[in-house]
Amino acid sequence: MENTLVIYNSLTRKKETFTSIHPKHVGLYVCGPTVYGDPHLGHARPAITFDLLFRYLEHLGYKVRYVRNITDVGHLEADADDGEDKIAKKARLEKLEPMEVVQYYSDRYHEFMDALNVKKPSIEPRASGHIIEQLQLVKDILDKGYAYECNGSVYFDVEKYNKEHHYGKLSGRNIDDLLSTTRDLDGQSEKKKSYDFALWKKAAPEHIMRWPSPYSEGFPGWHLECSAMSAKYLGEEFDIHGGGMDLLFPHHECEIAQSTVANGHAPAHYWMHNNMITINGQKMGKSLGNFITLEEFFTGSNDLLEKAYSPMTIRFFILQAQYRSTVDFSNEALQAAEKGFTRLMEGMNNLEKVKPGDNSSFDVAAFKAKCYAALNDDLNSPILIAQLFDGVKQINNMIAGTANLTEEDLTAFKTLMRSMVEDILALKNEAASSAGQNELLGNVIDLMLQLRMDAKKNKDWATADRIRDELQNMGLIIKDTKDGFEWEIK
Ligand code: ZN
Repeated sequence: MENTLVIYNSLTRKKETFTSIHPKHVGLYVCGPTVYGDPHLGHARPAITFDLLFRYLEHLGYKVRYVRNITDVGHLEADADDGEDKIAKKARLEKLEPMEVVQYYSDRYHEFMDALNVKKPSIEPRASGHIIEQLQLVKDILDKGYAYECNGSVYFDVEKYNKEHHYGKLSGRNIDDLLSTTRDLDGQSEKKKSYDFALWKKAAPEHIMRWPSPYSEGFPGWHLECSAMSAKYLGEEFDIHGGGMDLLFPHHECEIAQSTVANGHAPAHYWMHNNMITINGQKMGKSLGNFITLEEFFTGSNDLLEKAYSPMTIRFFILQAQYRSTVDFSNEALQAAEKGFTRLMEGMNNLEKVKPGDNSSFDVAAFKAKCYAALNDDLNSPILIAQLFDGVKQINNMIAGTANLTEEDLTAFKTLMRSMVEDILALKNEAASSAGQNELLGNVIDLMLQLRMDAKKNKDWATADRIRDELQNMGLIIKDTKDGFEWEIK
């Protein structure tokens, strides 16, 4: 089957047929997290959105180089050019080294992304590991005359850029509007115009994260890292750049301006943005008191939650909305998602029990075409999920004997259902995997205790005692009985 993937390009504001630069390879860059706090829903949505894209492109046969960065320097409070570095602030409050903060929250991020079954990107570069590349870009932009130096800091000259290019083409703004919406809080900015943005900032004496440069001891502006790292790993021109809609302006607009000056053209052909998440109809934010971390979702330990919701429930819930629409989290909606997810998993379990019949009562090829049509239409996961529920209905009918497929059709149907659910949407049966793990653990303990019995029979008391002591240290209660042994976990 020929698949034509159509994606909505934020740059042209149109749905476009996806054509990669190289016929078999795709370069994908997605702005990753700034690692200064525990992962929350706002991290889950872009990760899952671009995981779906990554998996589907691979499914279509592309070799994908997926680069998702970690911002560990230069992202200042309020996403502005002045203020404290978000990571340095956390480090100051917690009395830690900034890199301890970065390590801890990067590890937490990875742990929760694994739980959500988000595949690891091909490369995960850190901004602090690419200072040289960023300084090279600053020099390049200065040399080309699109930046100016002031008191050891370097700023991008938006006005000059805008004379030849449209600054605001991604976000649909123009610089006259920007003058009225961006203002200097104290009127003492050293920038020529309020919409100019920092490429390099001179570090204040108390600023911890700093590097030497020809301009000052300082640090890179937040937008610079993505221009430098995407060019390094994907080339000056690559296929898709993604991120949350909140990054569209100024972050991505600035990236386009920087890369256009450096390379003479915009960096990515397609720009994709996932929409935001709201909680009970409100924007999520620490100051609004409705901030829920992923750990709180998984354990239920937040007053806003009636119960815990598993990682796969969260994944399924996010996939129930097309990535460009908003998602509103409420207990009601999550419990409905949990029911739907369970029904889908039960259908997948039942699929194993279906036996072939003499003829086929429904058209597998037509069903397959509908599944791919949903994915090809800008990753329309809710339509795909609706199709998969039709598939579940057929599975249940086949078990009840009111529908059937020939052996050949059944094989095609099973392959399709599995690849859609398990490979592309990447939903997995959590109950089965934890039950499977418990069974495995039980078997291993039984084996250890059997070996202890053997040791006792051979009068190898040292080995027998060691097995007992070490298992007890791990938290097992072991009782010798007349028939052998019993154990339980404390
Ligand atoms: Zn970025």
